[in-house]
Amino acid sequence: MKKQNKHVAKPIAAPKGEPTMIKIGYRDITVEWMGPDFKTDELTDCYGWYKTREGLIQIQDKLCGQEKVNTLLHEALHAIVYGSGLNQAGGPLKEEDAEELAVNQITNYLLGMFRDNDWFLDYIKKNLHKDK
Ligand SMILES: [Zn+2]
Repeated sequence: MKKQNKHVAKPIAAPKGEPTMIKIGYRDITVEWMGPDFKTDELTDCYGWYKTREGLIQIQDKLCGQEKVNTLLHEALHAIVYGSGLNQAGGPLKEEDAEELAVNQITNYLLGMFRDNDWFLDYIKKNLHKDK
C-alpha cells in the first residue's frame, strides 16, 4: 500500500499587480503564485505548470519580469493545446515531448517578436474588437 503524502504545497497571496485568473476558451483558469516546494517536488524543476483537471496555472513567485511573462504565456499555451484538443489521440501534439517543444518554441518566438516590435501588442489591442 502506497503511503499517502499529506503535505500539500500552498500558494501565497498573489503578488501585487499580478493576475489571478486568465480566460482561455470556455475555461476560467486560476493563476496561483507560489514558491518551489521540495516536499511535494512542485515547481522544483520548472517555473510553472498547468494542471488541466483543476483549471489551474501555478507560477513561481520570485521570477524576473521576462521569466514571469514567458512562464504565464507558456502555461496558457498548454491550456490552449488542451482546450483545443491538439494533444488528444490523433492530434499533432499527442506526444508529451511534441507538445512541450511546440509550446516552448511558440512562446519564445512570440515574446521575442513582441519585444522586437513593441508596437505589435498595442496594435492588437487597438484593433481586436473592431469589426468594421
Ligand atoms: Zn511546458
